[in-house]
Parts: sequence; structure tokens; C-alpha cells
Amino acid sequence: MSSESVKVVVRCRPMNEKERANEFERVVSVNVKLGQIIVRNPNEASASSPPTVFTFDSVYNWNSKQIDLYNKSFRPLVNSVLLGFNGTIFAYGQTGTGKTYTMEGLRNDPERRGVIPNAFDHIFTHISRSQNQQYLVRASYLEIYQDEIKDLLSKDQSHRLELSERPDTGVFVKDLSSFVTKSVQEIEHVMKVGNQNRSVGATNMNEHSSRSHAIFVITVECSELGVDGENHIRVGHLNLVDLAGSERQAKTGAEGERLKEATKINQSLFALGNVMSALVDGRTSHIPYRDSKLTRLLQDSLGGNACTVMVANIGPASYNMEETLTTLRYSNRAKNIKNKPRINDDPKDALLREFQEEIARLKAQLKKRSGEKKKKKQRRAGEGSNGEDLEGETEDDDEDGDDNGDYWREQQLKLERERNAIMEDHSLVAEEKVQLLKEKEKKMEDLRREREAGELIEAKVKAMESKLLVGGENIVDHTNEQQRMLQQRKHEIAEKKDREREMQQQMECRDEETLELKETFTSLQQVVDSKTKKLRKVFARLQAMNAEIHDIQEEHSKERQKLEQNQNDLTKKLKLKHLIIENFIPPEEKSELDSRVYFDEEDEHWKLKPITPAVHIPTLKLNLPPRTTLDYQVPVVAPAMLEALRNALKIEDVMVIDASDCERPASTISGLRKSKSGRSRASKRSSSPSSPGPPLYPKCRGLVPK
Ligand code: ADP
Ligand code: MG
Repeated sequence: MSSESVKVVVRCRPMNEKERANEFERVVSVNVKLGQIIVRNPNEASASSPPTVFTFDSVYNWNSKQIDLYNKSFRPLVNSVLLGFNGTIFAYGQTGTGKTYTMEGLRNDPERRGVIPNAFDHIFTHISRSQNQQYLVRASYLEIYQDEIKDLLSKDQSHRLELSERPDTGVFVKDLSSFVTKSVQEIEHVMKVGNQNRSVGATNMNEHSSRSHAIFVITVECSELGVDGENHIRVGHLNLVDLAGSERQAKTGAEGERLKEATKINQSLFALGNVMSALVDGRTSHIPYRDSKLTRLLQDSLGGNACTVMVANIGPASYNMEETLTTLRYSNRAKNIKNKPRINDDPKDALLREFQEEIARLKAQLKKRSGEKKKKKQRRAGEGSNGEDLEGETEDDDEDGDDNGDYWREQQLKLERERNAIMEDHSLVAEEKVQLLKEKEKKMEDLRREREAGELIEAKVKAMESKLLVGGENIVDHTNEQQRMLQQRKHEIAEKKDREREMQQQMECRDEETLELKETFTSLQQVVDSKTKKLRKVFARLQAMNAEIHDIQEEHSKERQKLEQNQNDLTKKLKLKHLIIENFIPPEEKSELDSRVYFDEEDEHWKLKPITPAVHIPTLKLNLPPRTTLDYQVPVVAPAMLEALRNALKIEDVMVIDASDCERPASTISGLRKSKSGRSRASKRSSSPSSPGPPLYPKCRGLVPK
């Protein structure tokens, strides 16, 4: 099955009265030849920035004609519906940009009729020109408002419909009414009725239509004798969708119903956008069709088996620029959606099949009746003319109207004659007469009923047959209108041929140039391709490198911090050393050290050279003052006394004395003992038992108050 992209065409409407009066700037330009829409930013600040360019399948400017749009962008799609494909045309865009104008246009103005009326003409003209095919056309019309489906052709406009799904035919609206239409006039009438229902209950029709989606569905069924000798039916559905305005519905300030409305509108178009994104993305297999009724109904048209054309409508003025860009971006995405169109061959729900079967059944019934009738006739004829040969007539299938009429008339007259005969027969008793007359009356009544039933079936067959359209004969119905159309088309074709010729000439002139350009293009394209590949690789490497650089920078900065800290510490130490050197080392020593110090490269340390013997070591002689004291003489103590003293001191050995009040530092008795034998004068003074001073024992801090 071949795939086909969704076709996207863009149409820019003309400036309207108001815009012209206010002298709004035009920011949109349309390059029809290249299929480009160019949007310029009107702001002073960004005047120098390049304009945004979008390319589409076709683009139409403010001078575009409805019929050109139809012939170029929609006719092929409707043709495929006539072949049994499903097709969808939907108009997308901000309110007031021409969606309804494009889809419906002005129905009574042949120049300004939109896609829908043009499709009506196209379909019925096609049928009238067909041969050996039988068609059945029906129409439905529905509206989606606040995610609820309303049947615009139903009598009960308050009723809401539900969606359902069947594996063979996909998603459909349950109980949606559809009307079989035999001509353009009939289908136009259906549309008119639907439009009237659309406006019922809407206080402001414009506002309502900008907030609801309208879908007109035409089903074309075609039956044709296949090569296998069987009748085959193809069914094509054409969905003509006029979407709600794509502008962001302001939620601010909205309350209750309005808030609900705004949310729902945003939701369905948002869901449509999500479906498109998911379809284009390719990374996800989940397409969120179920997020809204709109997306479910359009499931076939987006990524399904339908052919789809999306018309994006935009406005040209500067104040619409943001919305215009949004619409263009949105539609640009849709270009990449792929569908797989498939013919609907012999679907189970084909109404045409039902019609054909019902007609065949009724005809068989009629045949049976006529068979009985003929038998009676034969019998009668046999009675009357002694077996006159009537065989030729028995083969007659067709119920000839006159023959029929004659038969009934004959029967009627016969019964009446018989009744009169009974009435006039005087030999009969009154009671017998009444009885016979009653019988005759009953027979007449039966006859009438039988006749009526036959007529009813015939009428039904005729009505059903009239709904099945066949080519050739129907041309008569359309002749005038279609001949006019034909003339118009011929005229257009002639014009187009002229234009084609002109273009051909131009093309021939440029042929060589084109060839050259093409060659360069192919080679350039190759270059671009390989460069793009390389660029991708290089870019990936660049990203890896950037990440690495980042890591390295971080590491480096940490390292630097550490080093700075270190440097600070070292500087402090150095300063301290300098301070010591400056203040505590005599200048001669310093210079001597300076001369000795060297840096050991191997050990990477500063070292001092050993002192050489030649070096003069200064011997400093102190000029001491004459001595004014005597050496201490140990007193002579009796041995018994010494022993007693030693014992006394031994007991006190571990006692710690709190001497914080004393001028002297805390010490132990053993310390005392030790100092007793020491050489220092100060310690001698403090440790001497004879020396005066505060008591060495803790003060009593007991119960006695001070
Ligand atoms: P929408 O349905 O998008 O809200 P309409 O179709 O109602 O917009 O268009 C708004 C107005 O602009 C209508 O008066 C319509 O006639 C006019 N208009 C839109 N497109 C065109 C066009 N291509 N040429 C002329 N008039 C247009
Ligand atoms: Mg509209």
C-alpha cells in the first residue's frame, strides 16, 4: 500500500474594510510559483531580522478564485472519493480568516461558491457522465461543540450522539441520520437545513460557529459489474470540515459556561495538534486520537486510510502576525503526516447493496403476483376462447402499466356485471341474493386491496430505483446547469492552455539553464549531504569536548583554590620567619646565613652549607658586674631531726595543693623536694622552708562562715 502525505495549502484572505480603513500594514507575502508564504516582522527593532519563510504544496493569495482553488487543490481529492477512497478537506485558522468562505463561500454566487457546493456539482456531474455504474449519494451533517456531537439533520436538536468503532469501517457516529440525495438541489437543501439547525439556539451565530466544528459528510456508493461477473460496491466518504477558530481562547475572566467552552475548544484543537505531532514524531507509536471527539472522528484522515487536504487560512495584516505564524507552524507540521489511502471495497454497511437487494425482493414479489394474475387470465381466456394460445405473454416480466390497468379494469367490470346479474335475477330468494351480493362485494374489496398492494410495491420500487443514480439518463436533469458549467470549464481550459503554452516557451528558453542548475544542484546536494553528515559527527564531538572542557575547568578551579590556600599559608609562615629574622637575628648572623644558604636541586630544598673552619666564630665575652652575694651554706641539722622531717614529708607525698591564691605556681611537695636540691636561685628561694610566704595548705571552706 503506497503512502501519501497530507497536502497542506495556505490561503491568505484580502485586507478587509476595517483593516484598510485603519491602514494596517501587510506583513504576509505570497509567492504562488514557489509555494511560499513569507511573513515579515513589522516591529522596528526586528526590522533587520530576516522574514520567516514557509513552503507548502500550494499557496493562494488574496486574488485567488474559488474555482481555481477547487480545480487545483480539491478536485483530485473528490475524484478519489468517487473511486471509493475516503477523503477529508479541513479548514484551519483564526476566526475571520476565511475558513467558512473557503468551505462554503456564497452559495448563490457561482463565482464565490466554496469547496462544498463545488463538490456537489462535481459529484453529480461525474455520476451523470458515468456508464454502467449505479450510484447512491447520501449526506450527513454534524457539529462538535464542547466535545459533544449534535446531528444537524435530526428533528431532535437537543439529542447528543456517541461515537462507536467497528474493526472493518473504523470510527463512526452512532445513529447519525443521513439523507439520500438524487441531485445537487436536494443535497443543497440538506445543507441548508443543517445550517439552519446550527444557528438555532445560538445567540451570536458568528461566535458560535467560531467555537464549534462543523462536519458535512457525503457518502458516495458506486456499484459496478466486475470482471468476475459479480456486482462490486465501492464506498467513498468525503468529510468537509470547517474547524473552530484556532485563536487561543482567552480563559482570563471567563467563568462557568464560558470557561468550560474555552477549555473545551482549546482542548480539541490542542488534541488535534498533539495527534499531528505524534504522527510526525516517529518515536512514539501512541497517537492520542482518544483525547477528543474531533480527533477520533478524523482518525482516518490523519495517519489513516484517507486522502487529506488541509487548508490553512491566514490574514494579511500586521496585528494578526502572531496568530498567522502559529497557524503556519501548525500546518507546516501537518505536511509530514503520512496516510495510506485504501479503497473501501464491498463494505458490509453499503446502503446501495441494501437498496439493490430490497428492489430485487420487491420485484420478485411483483413477479410472483403477476404470475398468479396471468394464470388467472389464462384460465379465464381458456374458458372464454377454448384454449387460445397465449404463451407469448407468459414470458413477459415487465409489468406493463396499461396491461396492468386493463387487467384490473376487466376484473372490476366482471365483478360489477356479476353483481348486477345477481341483483336482476328474480329467481333468487332475497336471502340468497344478499349472500351472493356480499360475496361479490368481498371479492371486489379483495381485488381493490390486492391492486393497492401491488401499486404500493411498484411505487416503492420506483422510489428506490430513482435514488440509485445512473449515468446517461440523468444528464437530462442537469443539462442546462451542466452545459453552462461545461462552457465555463472549456473557457478556463482554453485559458489555461494559453498560459501553459507561454510557460512552455519560457521553459524551453531556460531549458539549458535548468539542466545546468539541476546538475549543480545534484552535486551540491551530495556535497551538502556529506557535509551534513560530517557536521553531525563533528557536532557530537564538539558536545563531548565541551563537556570535557567543563569538567576540566571545574577541576582546575578547585586546584587553584587549593593552591591559593597553600600560598596564603606559606606567605604567613614566611612573614613570621621574616619577622623572626628581622627582629631576633643580628644582621651579621643574617648575612652569614644568607651566604651559606643554597637550594639543593636534587632534594628541592634550601640547605645550609657547613661552616668552614676558616670562618671566624665570634666569642662573646660578657662583662659581668662584681659579685655581691654569697653561696648558700647548707645548715647543719641533727640526724634525728632530719629523719622526722623526712617522714613527715613522705605522708604528704600525693597531696595536691591548691595554690591558685599564691603568687607561685602550683607544685607538689615532691616538686618542693626536688627544688630543694635544685640550683636555681629563684627555686631555692621559693622552696626554702625558711623562706616566708603564704601557707601551702588549702584553706578551709567548711561550715564555719567567714
Ligand atoms: P472564518 O470562517 O474563518 O471565521 P469567514 O469565512 O467568515 O472566516 O471570513 C470572514 C470574512 O472575510 C467574510 O466576510 C468573508 O467573506 C471574507 N473573506 C474571507 N476570505 C476571503 C477571500 N479569500 N476573498 C474575499 N473575502 C474573503
Ligand atoms: Mg467560520
